[in-house]
Amino acid sequence: MTESMEVKKKISSNISRIASEGAGYVDARYYLDDSSETLLLYDGDLEANDTTVESGIGVRVLWEGAWGFAATSDPSCLDACFEKAAMNARTASRLVKVPLSMGAGEAVKGSYATPVEVDPFSVSLQDKLTFLTRLDNDLKEDFILKRMVYVNFQRKKVHFQNSEGSEINKDLVNVFGMIMAMALDSDGEMQRRSMSLYSTGDGTAGWEMVTNPELFSGHAARVRSELAELIKAEPLEYGKRSVILLPGQGHLQVHETIGHPLELDRILGYELSYAGGSFVDLDSFGKLRYGSDKLSVSSYGSIANSPGSFGFDDDGTPERAYRLIDRGILVNALTSRAMVNEANEKAGREVFQQSGGAARATSFYKAPIDRMTNINILPGNDGTEDDIIASTEDGIVVDNPVSWSIGSNREHFHFGCEIAWEVKNGEKTRVLRNPTYQGHTLEFYGSLSAVGDESTWKVELVNNCGKGEPNQVMQIGHGVPVVKFDDVITGERK
Ligand SMILES: [Zn+2]
Repeated sequence: MTESMEVKKKISSNISRIASEGAGYVDARYYLDDSSETLLLYDGDLEANDTTVESGIGVRVLWEGAWGFAATSDPSCLDACFEKAAMNARTASRLVKVPLSMGAGEAVKGSYATPVEVDPFSVSLQDKLTFLTRLDNDLKEDFILKRMVYVNFQRKKVHFQNSEGSEINKDLVNVFGMIMAMALDSDGEMQRRSMSLYSTGDGTAGWEMVTNPELFSGHAARVRSELAELIKAEPLEYGKRSVILLPGQGHLQVHETIGHPLELDRILGYELSYAGGSFVDLDSFGKLRYGSDKLSVSSYGSIANSPGSFGFDDDGTPERAYRLIDRGILVNALTSRAMVNEANEKAGREVFQQSGGAARATSFYKAPIDRMTNINILPGNDGTEDDIIASTEDGIVVDNPVSWSIGSNREHFHFGCEIAWEVKNGEKTRVLRNPTYQGHTLEFYGSLSAVGDESTWKVELVNNCGKGEPNQVMQIGHGVPVVKFDDVITGERK
């Protein structure tokens, strides 16, 4: 028997033992491999070449409505780790006012592997650096002062078991990439233009994404030429106008003002002391008008080449596809099993029918919390980006965030972007620098007047969503089309 088989057997017997002692629920996540590799070229120099490799087991025990958690990187300490988790839960149960419950669960057996053509961990460091140096060379031009080329690869091989008889194996691979160029404008202020590796929503998620010109490696010339225009551009003037978000910006808008406020643990107040709360409450579901009829938003776990897809969440719930917002009306939240039960208990009625499969932990030594999956604005019927521009009298097209400031309940926001293109009478006229826009979340989505078709839809990959205490950094996807909002406050008042 291999070592990992022995560990799995020991996990199984410990789960049975703790459950037979009276635990309401027990699970364990065994990370056989949790590896990450980061390469960063700064002005062509290798600034970072970081590799981390972790493995271990995280155990959760639910005892009379209270969680206990323990983790170990040493499989020989497994029995003690289960003991510790059970003891933590027993101690916590004496202090619990609202008992937590996982609800009824069925045994889930399955496996999920990210589709990968070329495993990024199998490509030699030399081949990676040769490729990235070529990409850095493509960014070079006399006026450019700083260049950055970044890639990050992640692999998580996880075995999951719980006291309901579930047994799940996952082999997840995530790939991220970013290029950026910086130069000084006429006021001596640093301007930047960047692009991040994105996905089309189908296909694979290995090294082949990095070398794909459409998804990543072919954008250097565009980044250079847009930066050249940007440093000669006038600043955006204050005023109300239409704002057209390209997916490079739209995904962060969705992330901050739809994704985060719809995390059920956040709605229930669990994140108040750190990440903040939500303007949404349990009475909002099925009633609240979140946006115009053109706004439909999904949580969709099945985008093959996105880090928001993982087959089964860390409660053992299979991935789901469902609407959060249906033609403007809020209908569902991002949920895990325990939060669904607590919310229904608190509301005194069934607000949520089942878990949305959103329980996730970043590593074996962190406990799962409610996280975004792939949170997407569904494509609409307003044509291509050019069609949307053609129907705009006075507006700006913006791309890629530079700065953001969001109300702690996500009720309002202010974003700064890398670049804007002015639109006058249906035509793109010139580039403008230092674009900003702001709004109140519900008013802003209420002014959504155009949603681009499938041709405008891209899945942007997020590698740095922070949440939880202690902090957990999570990977997420956002599929967004080109979207237009009217009467938005843009620029800064003098
Ligand atoms: Zn976030």
